[in-house]
Amino acid sequence: MCTSEYIVYTCGCRREMEFIQCPRRQGTNVKCARLRHRERRVSTNYCSRDLVRPDAEVKYMNRMGEVVEEPQAEEPEAEEPVVQEPAAQN
Ligand SMILES: [Zn+2]
Ligand SMILES: [Zn+2]
Repeated sequence: MCTSEYIVYTCGCRREMEFIQCPRRQGTNVKCARLRHRERRVSTNYCSRDLVRPDAEVKYMNRMGEVVEEPQAEEPEAEEPVVQEPAAQN
């Protein structure tokens, strides 16, 4: 049976990544009437159809693909370096 391997995007879309013709069909232009579907990869972003151009309204997503109010902080903000006053030597 031929296999359709697909990628899953965080928007929920599935797109075929690769189609693998089974050995029995190779060398022909035939695919099996029934196909095996296999999840090959899970993307960390929306598919190109659901992503918008830069001039559209920007939404922020967390790693789960949920829309959030603010962009996710990748790193805590660096603190101001503390300037140590030299201790008075008397
Ligand atoms: Zn096949
Ligand atoms: Zn999509």
